[in-house]
Amino acid sequence: MIIDGFDKLTLLDYPGHVACIIFTRGCNFRCSYCQNSSLILHKKEKGNFSEEEILDYLNLRKNVLDGIVISGGEPTVQPELINFIKKVKAIGLKVKLDTNGSNPKVLKELVSNKLVDYVAMDIKNSLDKYEIVAKCKVNEKALKESIKILKNGSVDYEFRTTLIKNYHTIDDVKSIYKLVKGSKYYIQNFKMSDDVLDKNLIGFEADELEKIKAIFKNEKNVEIRGL
Ligand code: SF4
Repeated sequence: MIIDGFDKLTLLDYPGHVACIIFTRGCNFRCSYCQNSSLILHKKEKGNFSEEEILDYLNLRKNVLDGIVISGGEPTVQPELINFIKKVKAIGLKVKLDTNGSNPKVLKELVSNKLVDYVAMDIKNSLDKYEIVAKCKVNEKALKESIKILKNGSVDYEFRTTLIKNYHTIDDVKSIYKLVKGSKYYIQNFKMSDDVLDKNLIGFEADELEKIKAIFKNEKNVEIRGL
């Protein structure tokens, strides 16, 4: 796998768990709000960290870590992902995967063989407006398939959407919810960072977030972050 980022400790990225996090290079989407654009555009031949380095660290710290978060970029574009995860599981640690859901084949293999313990899948927008966020051709069938795999599987998961005022309306949020209803769903507001390519993007105002909160007030599985 090509691994460009590695944080030895995170208490935030795998809620309730002490974990480390790796960031794989490359992504098949080109979201203009991507907080890790340097990972998706990188051209160097080798990653900044080798698999061996990460596995050595996990072996050394397996008594204090609960697991590892595999994020990116989009981890499922890495041909070695499944083999790497098998090596992590052999150490006895949990695996959380962050994914854009574009690769149901890999997701299915991971979920049905319980190679992952938690999956967080981004839902970029309502299906008819997906491509204006992903900035590329998107396979709608693949996304629906990934949603189905997570809903029907026995691995814990969440869906999440980053709200961007330039791309989303409150009606879009309602449409997205139809796709994920019944599942854990997190709505988070966009925040600008140095790595975001499009500096014109903005998040929702507090009053708009309050409106969204009111829409979901009876849905216990929906959480709005950043209010
Ligand atoms: S899917 Fe994720 S990693 Fe890929 S471009 Fe979009 S935000 Fe970035």
